[in-house]
Order: sequence, then structure tokens, then C-alpha cells
Amino acid sequence: MLNINELTQLCGELGCRIIPECTLSEYITFRFGGPCRALIGVNSAESAAKLLRYLKDGSVKYGVLGRGSNVIVPDEGFDGVILLFGSDFAQIELDGNIMKCQAGALLASACVHAQQSSLSGLENLFGIPGTIGGALYMNAGAYGSEIADVVVSAEYIDSDCNIRTINREDMDLSYRHSVFSGTDCVITSVTLKLREGDADKIKSAMTECMSKRSSKQPLDHPSAGSTFKRPQGSYASLLIDQCGLKGLTCGGAMVSEKHSGFVINKGYATCADVLELCGKIQSIVKEKTGYQLELEPVILR
Ligand SMILES: Cc1cc2nc3c(=O)[nH]c(=O)nc-3n(C[C@H](O)[C@H](O)[C@H](O)COP(=O)(O)OP(=O)(O)OC[C@H]3O[C@@H](n4cnc5c(N)ncnc54)[C@H](O)[C@@H]3O)c2cc1C
Repeated sequence: MLNINELTQLCGELGCRIIPECTLSEYITFRFGGPCRALIGVNSAESAAKLLRYLKDGSVKYGVLGRGSNVIVPDEGFDGVILLFGSDFAQIELDGNIMKCQAGALLASACVHAQQSSLSGLENLFGIPGTIGGALYMNAGAYGSEIADVVVSAEYIDSDCNIRTINREDMDLSYRHSVFSGTDCVITSVTLKLREGDADKIKSAMTECMSKRSSKQPLDHPSAGSTFKRPQGSYASLLIDQCGLKGLTCGGAMVSEKHSGFVINKGYATCADVLELCGKIQSIVKEKTGYQLELEPVILR
């Protein structure tokens, strides 16, 4: 049972911001969804561990959010507490070519930091709008690179609320998957190993990635990026296109005309609209091509 006064007091002691009855649509890039019971801005691994212990001891449901760029929030909201890994926990430290990022650091900030220090390895990931914690959780990737290529270790909080370290070889990294996916472990920092490179070349690679994104992706509308994972042997966008589903609409949700792999929010989409549209896409694609598309964003339940 959640005791909001007690939780507010604990947050005060830990120096963490707390917003009771917080509307989550502002915290996800898809821009819909109802409230949570409270949202807490995590400010350290130790605070996160204490908060998790408190929530678990009280059997309070909790969830974790980074930038909210790969999350779907139900219209009825989330009946629990959200730990937000954002700007209150976003430091990036460099020691030679080793970069240590707190989980709330934006991947984009890590890319810029690396470029300014003539370090290569992150440039293809520039433009992915998430945090470093979210990137590791999903093993984010683009244009032939993945966070898996540069990660060496991470600090996380395990199911018993202990702070642990894990090395890359134990992270079970594969396409949009890590050892953390689907578990209740919480990533608190990620250490990357980059290579020395040429700052100008790195910058032009980043600019090129960004311009590819803006020419191909509907960045002028809220979305969660690619709506479906890449099925083995094909591409979700190709299959959706082949089925003639560009522009298909449910309420305020629409298959983007610019990139059929993206479901976009026309401005007034509800979660129900998005899930209904995704269900239609999945059944039409299955019927016409035999491929079973799997949702990429995580539904916060
Ligand atoms: C326009 C657009 C383009 C995109 N392009 C790409 C792309 O090219 N490649 C790609 O891979 N993705 C892409 N994405 C999806 C998304 O940006 C990535 O998956 C990103 O890594 C998610 O990070 P996040 O911080 O937003 O995580 P969130 O969306 O906040 O969370 C995603 C999942 O990770 C969990 N999580 C987040 N932080 C932590 C943590 N610290 N500890 C434990 N669990 C955590 C959450 O609980 C949730 O289950 C795109 C999204 C958009 C909107």
C-alpha cells in the first residue's frame, strides 16, 4: 500500500524530487497516457536503491522511465510509482577513452561529449532520443551500430536492491535485448570504451545520421520511433508498405505516410487508438505476408 506522505518524507531525506499524481504523457515522446501515483526524479544509485527497497517492502508497484522514447502508457495510467532517470542523474565523466555515464544522461549528450573529445564509437547512435540507461536496457542501435559495440560494464540494482556491477560479456546483448530486458533490475550507470578519432570526421558522421533521420522519419509528430521490431528476414516498414497500410488511422493514431515503420500521434491519440491500430497492422500483415510483427515499445503496466 502506498503511503504518499511517508514516501514524500523519504524523498525529502534523499533529496529527490517527487510529483504526486503526475501525468505521464509529458514524460513520454508518444505524448499520451494517464497519471501515475507519484513520479520521483532519481539523483543517485544509493537513493534509487533505498527507494526500491522502500517500495518493495511496501509491495508498491513501480516502474522505471528514462526519456520515455520507447514506452507506451495506458490511458488509465500506471497505478504505482515511477522512478525517473533524467536530468537529476545525468553526469558524464571521461577518463581517457573511457566514458562513465549516469543512467539518466541522454545518449545525445554522450555522443556530443565524445565528439568534442575526439572519441569515436557513438556517432551512428546520434539522434536516438533516449537515455544511456534506456539504450542499454533495449540495446539501442542504428545504422549498423549498437550500444553493445561500446559498452564495457554497467552498475545496476538487482532484485534484492543491492548495487552490483556487470561486465559486457554477461549482458546477453542482442537485437533490442539485454539481460535487463523484462527484469526488475535498474541500471544506474553505464561505462563505455571509445576509440580515438578525428573530431571533424566524427562530427560529419553525426550530421549525416541526423539528416538521414530527418529526411526519412516523421520527427514532426510524437511517436516511439519504430513501432515494431525487425522480423527475421524482412523489415517491418517494408511489410507494412507492401500491405498498403500507409496512412491507416485509428482515432488520433496513424501509420506515418513518411515512414511506414512509425505509428504517429496526430495530436489527439489515446493509448487505445495506438494499440487498436497496432493490432490491425499485426493482423493484416500476418494474414497477407505470414510475418508476425512484435511491438518494440514497452507497455508500462
Ligand atoms: C523518433 C525516435 C527515433 C528512434 N530511433 C531509434 C533507433 O534508431 N534505434 C533504437 O534502438 N531506438 C530508437 N528509438 C527508440 C528509443 O529512443 C530507444 O529505445 C531508447 O534507447 C530508449 O531510451 P529511453 O531512455 O527513452 O527509455 P524509456 O523509453 O524511458 O524506457 C524504455 C524501457 O527501458 C527501461 N529503462 C529505461 N531506463 C532504465 C534504467 N535506467 N534501468 C532499467 N530499465 C530502464 C524502461 O523501464 C522501459 O522498459 C527511437 C525513438 C524515437 C521516438
